Amino acid sequence: MKETVYDLIILGAGPAGLTAGIYARRARLKTLILEKNFTGGGQIVSTDQVDNYPGMPKISGYELAEAFVNHAHALGLEITQAKITSIETDAQTGEKVIGTKKGNFRGKALLFACGAGHRHLGVPGEEELAGMGVSYCATCDGAFFKDRTVAVVGGGNSAVEEALFLSRLCAKVFLIHRRETLRADPVLWEPLEKAENIEVLYNTTVSRITGEEQVEKLVLCKQGRGEYEQKVDGVFLAVGMEPNTQLAQGLVNLDENGYIVAGEDGKTSAPGIFAAGDIRTKRVRQILTAAADGAAVIASVSDYLLQDCTISTNSIEN
Ligand code: NAP
Repeated sequence: MKETVYDLIILGAGPAGLTAGIYARRARLKTLILEKNFTGGGQIVSTDQVDNYPGMPKISGYELAEAFVNHAHALGLEITQAKITSIETDAQTGEKVIGTKKGNFRGKALLFACGAGHRHLGVPGEEELAGMGVSYCATCDGAFFKDRTVAVVGGGNSAVEEALFLSRLCAKVFLIHRRETLRADPVLWEPLEKAENIEVLYNTTVSRITGEEQVEKLVLCKQGRGEYEQKVDGVFLAVGMEPNTQLAQGLVNLDENGYIVAGEDGKTSAPGIFAAGDIRTKRVRQILTAAADGAAVIASVSDYLLQDCTISTNSIEN
């Protein structure tokens, strides 16, 4: 049986991938999304509350993700759960061949929309106690620490939002930041100051996380004070994101931080391979900008399929 050749295969079902899928369906492109997780939606699924998506004040991340997925399904977008093992270009046809444990999928164009994952702190105890008090997601694991003492590490939007979320559950929250000022948006400073059970430890780093079968203490290092121990029941690490570009290495140019080099048009260094959302080089990484990327990139994909692609485009649906 002849293998289906998609016009476009999208890797990742977060806001960028789903929006690209919606726009691709509207452009009548035969499109498939491959997503590694069971539910689509990307990082926002584990976001407690989204307050900066226009028209949707205070919507939960889960609800917004669900709305994206439902919209995509309503337009007939095909979404398959599969873990990708390889990406190759067919030397004869130029098609991109995506290898998965469910078999191969072929596309004339390929879009990386795999987003970014949590950066690790890289201190002793982090790996050993992962899932035993070390967490990267307060909305996922916060309930285990009801009325307990926890720490959040980081000074960006994620760290402050996690600290605020945990302050509503936990007895005490330490927010540990390595600098004198927070990187988080000013809109978050006031609620942080008002939360009586959050203590911000500035100019402080974590040297070690210790505990037998569960996190028990952090060894902290404060500028001018040196090392000291702080008892905690759990620690949430929110020290930024790293792009999920393992599969893109060797296929397209990456910048020094591992992001795919691509502009708003989503074009990468390789013809027929595009990038959208948090995975590409850009200044502002938000749900809105990821979704905007997903819309913009389909214009480039359509141009490629109609003008540059040497593969027959007769599968474009009418
Ligand atoms: P981020 O903005 O990159 O902040 C990471 C924080 O972790 C920084 O404060 C950084 O310190 C600190 N850090 C990094 N490596 C560290 C290390 N090894 N040890 C100690 N501290 C370390 O990351 P994010 O907060 O995850 O946000 C990622 C992106 O998503 C951002 O663009 C953010 O605006 C966006 N976001 C937006 C919202 C929202 O709009 N509601 C919510 C969440 C995330 P320095 O400050 O010293 O660099």
